[in-house]
Amino acid sequence: PLVLGIETSCDETGVGIVRGTTLLADTVASSVEEHARFGGVVPEVASRAHLEAMVPTIERACATAGIRPSDVDAIAVTSGPGLAGALLVGVASAKALALGLGKPLYGVNHLAAHVAVDQLEHGPLPEPCIAMLVSGGHSSLLKVTDLTLGVDPMGATIDDAAGEAFDKVARLLGLPFPGGPHVDRAARDGAITIDFPRGLTTRRDLERHRFDFSFSGLKTAVARWVEARERSGEPVSVPDVAASFQEAVCDVLVRKALDAATAEGIEDLLLGGGVAANSRLRAMVLERAERVGVRVRIPRPGLCTDNGAMVAALGAEMVARGRTPSALDLPADSSQPVTSVLV
Ligand code: ATP
Ligand code: MG
Ligand code: FE
Repeated sequence: PLVLGIETSCDETGVGIVRGTTLLADTVASSVEEHARFGGVVPEVASRAHLEAMVPTIERACATAGIRPSDVDAIAVTSGPGLAGALLVGVASAKALALGLGKPLYGVNHLAAHVAVDQLEHGPLPEPCIAMLVSGGHSSLLKVTDLTLGVDPMGATIDDAAGEAFDKVARLLGLPFPGGPHVDRAARDGAITIDFPRGLTTRRDLERHRFDFSFSGLKTAVARWVEARERSGEPVSVPDVAASFQEAVCDVLVRKALDAATAEGIEDLLLGGGVAANSRLRAMVLERAERVGVRVRIPRPGLCTDNGAMVAALGAEMVARGRTPSALDLPADSSQPVTSVLV
C-alpha cells in the first residue's frame, strides 16, 4: 500500500511516504533552532511551527516521491504520545487530508512507529523481537509479538529518559541543545577515565527493576564531579567527562536489553529513538550481542530521530495486516500508552 504518514509529536514536522516497506520520501522540517536558546522545546513555539510547516512539508514529500496526494491508499498520523498542541496540528491535518481525499485514516502510537521504521531499511520486522526505545522523552524495553496489535512493556525509566540525560549533561558541559549529538562527538576525543554510577544494576535493584532504567542519579553524579573539579581549580576535560558519561548510559542500556532478550529466549533486538543514533551505543550493542547470539537491527541515524517515514511505515503495516482504520473523531492523546498502538 502507498501510505502518507504525518509526525508532529515534538519539534519535527515530518511527512513520509512509503510503498509497503519501501521508502519513497522522508521530509522533515524542524523547529529545533527556535528552541535552542531556551535549552528545551517550547510547546507553543513547536505548535505554531508545525502549523506553518505542514502544507509545504506535505507538498515537498509528494514531489520527492513523485506522487499526487490522491494516489495514496491511506493516511497515517501520530496520535500520541507527545506535546498536546503539537499532536493536534498533525491529527487535524491528517483528518482533513483523509476526509478530503476519501482515504482511510490510521492514528498510531509514536513509540511503535520508532520500531516500525526499521522495516524501511532492513525489511520485514522480525517478530517476536525485543525493542529498546531510547529518546528524549522515553526509555523502554518492549516485547513485540505483532506490532500492529500491541506491545508488552517489560521495563522503562523510573525518572529521566536517556536522551534527557544526554541533553542535561551536555548543558552542564556547556554544549548546545539538543545535546546528544554533541556529547557523542565530544566523546570521540575523550577517554573513559571516570567511573560514573550505573543506575538500577545492584542485586537489590535488579529484584524489583530488572528491566527498568534510572538516569537522574548519573546526571547528578556528573554535575557533582564537575563542580568538585571547578571548586578545586582543576581543569575539566569535556571529552573525558562526555566519554565516561556516555559509557555509563550505554553500558546499562545494552546490558538490560540483552538480558531482556535472553530472559525471553528472543534472538532479535531492535533499537529505535534518537539515542539509538549514538555511535558508542551502536558499536557496543553490536559487539556484546554477537557474544550472546542475539541479532541486532538499528535504523540509520536519520531514521532514529523523529520523522514522518516511521509513521507511514507503521500505517502501511496496519493496511497490510487488515487493521480497522481510526474514526474521524480520532483524538490527539498526549499520554497515549505504549500498549495502544492504533487508536
Ligand atoms: P520522543 O521521546 O517522544 O520520541 P524526542 O523528540 O525525544 O521524542 P527523538 O528525535 O527520537 O525524539 O530523540 C531526540 C533525543 O535523542 C534528544 O534527547 C537527543 O539529544 C538524542 N540524540 C540524538 N542523537 C543522539 C546521539 N548521537 N547520541 C545521543 N543522543 C542523541
Ligand atoms: Mg526531536
Ligand atoms: Fe521520538
